[in-house]
Amino acid sequence: MLAIGLAGSIAACQTVPYTGRSQIMLLPETAELQMGLDSYQEVLKKSQLSRDAAVVEQVRRVGQRIAAATGRNDYRWEFNAIEDKQANAFCLPGGKVAVYTGILPITRDDAGLAAVLGHEVAHAIARHGGERVSQSLLVQTGLAATQAAMTRRDPRTVQTVTALLGAGATVGLLLPWSRNQESEADHLGLIFMAKAGYHPSAARDLWVRMAEAARGRQRPPEFLSTHPAEATRIRQIEAWIPEALRYYQPR
Ligand SMILES: [Zn+2]
Repeated sequence: MLAIGLAGSIAACQTVPYTGRSQIMLLPETAELQMGLDSYQEVLKKSQLSRDAAVVEQVRRVGQRIAAATGRNDYRWEFNAIEDKQANAFCLPGGKVAVYTGILPITRDDAGLAAVLGHEVAHAIARHGGERVSQSLLVQTGLAATQAAMTRRDPRTVQTVTALLGAGATVGLLLPWSRNQESEADHLGLIFMAKAGYHPSAARDLWVRMAEAARGRQRPPEFLSTHPAEATRIRQIEAWIPEALRYYQPR
């Protein structure tokens, strides 16, 4: 499947929706999507899915509204709640989302959960995983060489990409995104939640609670530890709220 994906046309650059940031992208999106599907299945196999019907229903209800707000009808959206005390959540390329139940006391309500889901979904929509892989390829191989090798499907390059994507699947869940990617996910996430009918100021309140939860513990929640400094994040979110409100459609 991956080889088929790599045969697609390769653009060196693309633009992130809404923020307009231009990013390096050496991977066809099909390769990322396949990686997302594969690693989601792996994660679900290894996890204990929540059997709390109300929790599962909430994650799907809010998730579907965020999904619709992105306009990505081609994604195969799926939302699951995983029984785990980590305060965490993720969205893999293609719209495969998981929420760890440990984050629910912090999200509290639908709007708080929408802030988390908006943020996580934004990482996928903005193709942050593909960007990270592309940056690694550039450093290892160089732009022209990578493109040429990928176009003729040079086996070694395909292997490198496969390895990076494989790592990305795990890394995407465990290692931090860059600070710019985190900020961009906050920014896009605000717009998605507003379009989905949740007031974007709920994101600010969520991050205040997240910071409080971090202070009460020996180790900060994993979700928080991989994200920018709390004060900076909250200030940035406040500055983006007026823009997000232009997309706000109360229900
Ligand atoms: Zn993030």
